Amino acid sequence: MTTIASNLQVVRTAISAAAVLAGRSAGDISLLAVSKTFAAEEIRRAYLAGQTRFAESYLQEALEKLAVLQDLNIEWHFIGPIQSNKTRAVAEHFAWVHSVDRLKIAERLSAQRPLHLPPLQICLQVNISHEASKSGVSVGEVPELAKVIAGLPNLALRGLMAVPAPSEVYAEQRAAFAQLREIFDGLNRQGMGLDTLSMGMSHDFTAAIAEGATMVRVGSAIFGERIY
Ligand SMILES: *Cc1c(COP(=O)(O)O)cnc(C)c1O
Repeated sequence: MTTIASNLQVVRTAISAAAVLAGRSAGDISLLAVSKTFAAEEIRRAYLAGQTRFAESYLQEALEKLAVLQDLNIEWHFIGPIQSNKTRAVAEHFAWVHSVDRLKIAERLSAQRPLHLPPLQICLQVNISHEASKSGVSVGEVPELAKVIAGLPNLALRGLMAVPAPSEVYAEQRAAFAQLREIFDGLNRQGMGLDTLSMGMSHDFTAAIAEGATMVRVGSAIFGERIY
């Protein structure tokens, strides 16, 4: 077995264990393999080990790998910052975008989504307190932005994403994820019908699953440490 295959097995087992601990079904949590900075051949190895959902953060790098891996039936997710001049390529090549935090970007993605493809699946990135990056819509602006985006024709608003500041303290990890879940629950009480909470990375996916994550984005625990 390759290192990537055995890492994947370890991560899948940890996801199942976290689900059981939270009284949830492991089948309700999907694993997104974050392959940014890793080579197409490493993605292929993970695919051959049964992983089909992959996420990329840097468009140019992603497009090169997508071209090389066209023979594989991969579901590609975009999770990086999006500039306006990059929306067309994102709309054309990805199934999901987790990093939408402005209406202008959402409008462009909707307008540029090719009509022969299914709607682009969208998560709003929320800047919860402790957010590591400056990306993300502020908490107060989420309901209005979610409502407008849900009405755009070629997008399907699925849920929320966040990247809390890294913490080694489990209680702090949970508190940050609980904040995102509360916003998510609030939107659903207003009838938004969201089903995706994209939260949890290599160092904190256990806490994220305890707080209701339905999609965890795991990179280094699968592929090893990133070298930029
Ligand atoms: C890089 C990245 C990840 C994966 O991080 P790891 O710590 O390697 O698991 C998850 N989400 C986003 C938005 C990222 O940029």
